[in-house]
Formats: sequence, C-alpha cells, structure tokens
Amino acid sequence: MKEEQTLHALAREGNLRTLPEAEHDGVWIGQDGRRMLNVASNDYLGLASDRDLQKEFLRSVPERDRLLSASSSRLLTGNFAVHRELEALLAGRFGRESALTFSSGYHLNMGILPAVADGHTLILADKLVHASLIDGIRLSAARCIRYRHQDYRQLQSLVEKHHAAFDRLIIVTESVFSMDGDVAPLAALAELKKAYPNVMLYVDEAHAVGVRGKRGLGIAEEQGCLADIDFLCGTFGKALASVGAYVVCSRLMHDYLVNRMRTLIFTTALPPLNVAWTKFVFSRLDGWEDRRIRLASMAEKVRGAVRRAGYPCLSESHIVPLVVGESEKTVLKAAEMQQNGFYVLPVRPPTVPEGTSRLRLSLTAALPEAEMERLVEAIEAPSIPSEGGT
Ligand code: PMP
Repeated sequence: MKEEQTLHALAREGNLRTLPEAEHDGVWIGQDGRRMLNVASNDYLGLASDRDLQKEFLRSVPERDRLLSASSSRLLTGNFAVHRELEALLAGRFGRESALTFSSGYHLNMGILPAVADGHTLILADKLVHASLIDGIRLSAARCIRYRHQDYRQLQSLVEKHHAAFDRLIIVTESVFSMDGDVAPLAALAELKKAYPNVMLYVDEAHAVGVRGKRGLGIAEEQGCLADIDFLCGTFGKALASVGAYVVCSRLMHDYLVNRMRTLIFTTALPPLNVAWTKFVFSRLDGWEDRRIRLASMAEKVRGAVRRAGYPCLSESHIVPLVVGESEKTVLKAAEMQQNGFYVLPVRPPTVPEGTSRLRLSLTAALPEAEMERLVEAIEAPSIPSEGGT
C-alpha cells in the first residue's frame, strides 16, 4: 500500500512523526519516568499554566457563559452575547472599527483569503508563511507569488511590476515567524502598501500577540502601525492560553466576511465558556508587562547561548531555533536535550525546508530563573557539532 511505503520512506529519512505521549504539569512535563522543563509550548506568558488565574476566572464567570458548546454556527443560534462582547473588546483595544473571531487560527487563515481574493487578485506571500496561510492561498482563485523570506526589495519590485495588472494585491506575512523567530518590519510594509490604492496588507500575529507591544497587542503596536493593516490577525491558542482566533478590520470587511467566509459560516461557533475565558484574559493583557519583559530578557540570554554554541540564529524573539540541519541529527539532539531535562521536540520537513531541521525552543515567562541558567549551559555544551548554515 502506498501509505505503508510513505511511512517507511519517512522513517528512513528520520522524518517519521508520532504523537508525543507526555504528562503535563504546568511548566513541567513527565515522560518515561523523567521530569523535564517544557521549552516547546506556545504558552509564552505562562497563563495556560497559571492555575490561580484559572480559578479566579471560574469563580467570576457568570452563569450565562457557563456553556460548553455553542451547538450551532455563529450565523444560526451559535452567536452568544459573549462572542459579541469579545469582538467589541478586541476592536476597542486595537482601535479599529470591527473584529471577528473564529474557531482557530487555521480556520481564520484558511477562510479569509479565499473569501477576498478572486481571479483578479495577486497574493504576494513571504516564502515562510504558515501552512494555514498556504492552504488559504491554495483555496483562493488568486494568483500567488512567494517572495524570498523577508526580502522586501524583491517584494517592492513585485508590487511595482504587477499592481497595474490586477484589481488587488494582497501582501501576506507573519509578524514573528513561527519557526525562525525573526520579526517582519510591519511599519515599512504598511508604508509600501499605502503608496498604492489597490494593495492590502494581511498580517498573522499568532506568535506576537500577548508577547510584544507595550499593551501586548503585537508587533503592529510595537512598530506603531495598528491602524494600517487591513487584516490584522492573531490566535488565542498561544500566549492568550485559550482557543480560537481573530481578525481586526474595517466594518465593511467584517460584514463581507460574515457573508462570504466559509470557515466562519459552516462551522460550530466557539463554546461560550472558552470565549468568556479569552475575554477575561484579553481584558487583562495590559497588566502583564512584567511577564513580557521577563520573557524578552530570557530570550536574549538563550539567543546568546545559541550563537555562542555556533548555531546560526536569526531570531529576534522568544522563539529560538537551534538549526541542526539533518533530521536524524536533530532527533538525536532533541533526545540529548531531553536527557538533560529539557523537553524540546525536533521540527523537520515539511514543517521546515529540507536540510534545516531544528529544535524549536519556545520560551515561557513561567520558566524558573534557576532552570534558565541550566538551559543556557545545556545549549552551550552541545555534544553534536552543528553543521552551520540553514
Ligand atoms: N498561524 C501561525 C503563524 C501559526 O503558527 C499557527 C499555529 N501553529 C496558526 C496560525 C494556527 O493557529 P491555531 O493553532 O489557532 O489553529
């Protein structure tokens, strides 16, 4: 059977995946009788492991919102008051006309582009955007050109060359890139798009919301361009410790998406209890600057250690890859880190390009300081030499 052959081939290349079987306990993970520090989750602010915060929420949540299922699509009977309240909160905080929430970041990215990009649209997407964006592009009728990762000269020349031939161009990027941790210059991209009336900007802040910006609103806040991004998107499943996703946009776009976005229309709405939790967390985001500062200072230390150990490191954030190269060596390196008490997982093709397999260290503000020092030591004393290069 072809599936069996595929699995054999994956195993030969060191790319076979299995579902990890680990026991979670806050920042610690238990597996095979070993207790390890979790440096592989997206709980960047440590909110998902903050039991006190969760207890406070459960004590305060009104009876009205204690529903575990919406039992229907938003467009039928699944549109509860708490959904509308969360969207009003998001629009207000981001200073924009409207916000719309979705079941997940995958639904969001897979749904918006097919709704807004037709055969007269050209999408210009960074080479390294997330799989959910690629799937959204594939589902749309638009033409697409992928520009070299963070190569904005190439992007600018593509805009100059093509803007007159299409009704609409949409630039698609992440802000903090999920596998390299580098940061896009959103303010410069906003300037570029503003020079052309038919160019729009779509930004996925999945790994930045909560973490970056004075009030935790992401890189667009940090770079002062919150108002200039047509589709400013993020997920609730990472720093915000919940589930779901959002876009902030114009009222017109909100109304259009409600009518045309299939991954919003044809799916069950998020459960009210989850939405209430997201609202609770988001309403407090301003107050967690101490966690953002701590995370940034830990990330700086870890990036320093990765560089001193001789690995290439383009990261400018709390996502710090240790790019080993070959998949098999990466698997060994992950096992070695686990032996040392750090739970990291190998990230291999197709998640990352061939030859760039890596350990993706993703830090959390909940890491104890003493363990940070041990982590830095473990990174700086690698037993497997790196191959350099990405
Ligand atoms: N966008 C990016 C950049 C992501 O990394 C991810 C998840 N890893 C998603 C979107 C999907 O978000 P969700 O997990 O909410 O489906």
